[in-house]
Amino acid sequence: MDFGLTDTERDVRDWVRTFVRRELLPLEPEVLRRERRGEPGLPPEELRQLREIARAAGFWGVQTPREYGGMGLGAVLTALVEVELGRTFVPFSFGGSADNILYSGDEEQKRRYLLPTIAGERVSCFALTEPGAGSDAKAIRTTARRDGDDWVIDGEKTFITHGHEADFAMVFAVTDRERGADGGVTCFLVDRESGWTSEPIATMGEWGPASLVFDGVRVPSANVLGEVGQGFALAMRWIGRGRYLLPARALGACERLLEMAMEHARVRHTFGEPLAERQAIQWMIAESGVEIEAMRWLVLHAAWQVDAGIDSRHAQSVAKLYGGVKANEIVDRVLQIHGGMGYTKELPVERWYRELRLLRIYEGTDEIQRRTIARNLLKGHVSVGGVLG
Ligand SMILES: Cc1cc2nc3c(=O)[nH]c(=O)nc-3n(C[C@H](O)[C@H](O)[C@H](O)COP(=O)(O)OP(=O)(O)OC[C@H]3O[C@@H](n4cnc5c(N)ncnc54)[C@H](O)[C@@H]3O)c2cc1C
Repeated sequence: MDFGLTDTERDVRDWVRTFVRRELLPLEPEVLRRERRGEPGLPPEELRQLREIARAAGFWGVQTPREYGGMGLGAVLTALVEVELGRTFVPFSFGGSADNILYSGDEEQKRRYLLPTIAGERVSCFALTEPGAGSDAKAIRTTARRDGDDWVIDGEKTFITHGHEADFAMVFAVTDRERGADGGVTCFLVDRESGWTSEPIATMGEWGPASLVFDGVRVPSANVLGEVGQGFALAMRWIGRGRYLLPARALGACERLLEMAMEHARVRHTFGEPLAERQAIQWMIAESGVEIEAMRWLVLHAAWQVDAGIDSRHAQSVAKLYGGVKANEIVDRVLQIHGGMGYTKELPVERWYRELRLLRIYEGTDEIQRRTIARNLLKGHVSVGGVLG
């Protein structure tokens, strides 16, 4: 058993760490100021410039296959990258990536949707959730009916990330009500010019998703992604593309937050002693340190399973559930250690507090992860002994 990093893993991790320190950390005060004015923390042009700086050093398309110009990094390396990016709240991601399911397109679809998305020329969104169907995604009611060579889509989607900025949407619609999710849902690539509309949804976070309305939107058959009736499997593939990456990013945030809390505890004196000398504070630091360590190994273990070609769904659910719950407990303790200052907008702690809350909701809520984990155990799909048996 080897818990160390290979030379390549260390090199990649260190490069991103340096990039974050040199390029992103100095932007933090300005990002906070902009967000407080209701502006995007990182305007598109600044994001593009940062991505170009990274690209010049070879950081482009972290998981994008090499034949598409990307780095084609595996899951462990990608998780290490995400942890480093998570150490700042500057909303940065490397350029050069596209949704995994766009690789299922035919040559023409790849030319029109996949390649421009990788190049950053077009923005996509994944539209599955509806007002009446979130956790229970099989309950979607958006329909697509055939009309000659076209399909006509009617329905509403909600909470769609990038839904207001997207140039096209991957829309999941019922094409055979009898069969439902089992062969009756199809995925369509729908350009904004086809006539769908979007409305941003304000959230407690610094960015918001959007609701989308499809009112008789006409799409040619050529825009069916994959096979007619096989859309639900594509949706599950999109969602399962990298669940371990969400807690990976939260892990980086928790590392940074705990460092901030420890620094504060060392310098803040009450009743003649530093907070760091108080057992109540030490216990919060100890709990957080242990949980960060556990998060790290759950994330890396799930990523290792992906790289090893093992069915990693259970491990990913475990990492997502634990990471979401613990990141929220840790940021709450860090806020508490900062006292009144933790509650202010002077510090980024409250920002992280709001942002990390989302982790317990999207891409499978805590309850849905628990449901999956319990079912896997009860049905014997996995053993309580884990991969060691
Ligand atoms: C900021 C943000 C971005 C998002 N981005 C996207 C996106 O890009 N594309 C997309 O398609 N969707 C997106 N979503 C939707 C997200 O995936 C759903 O919000 C999520 O799956 C939960 O669905 P819901 O909100 O309908 O809650 P519901 O499914 O109504 O659940 C409500 C509560 O009941 C619990 N619950 C539900 N079923 C059970 C059960 N069987 N047992 C016990 N408890 C249960 C849930 O865990 C939750 O606590 C996004 C959501 C947010 C907030």
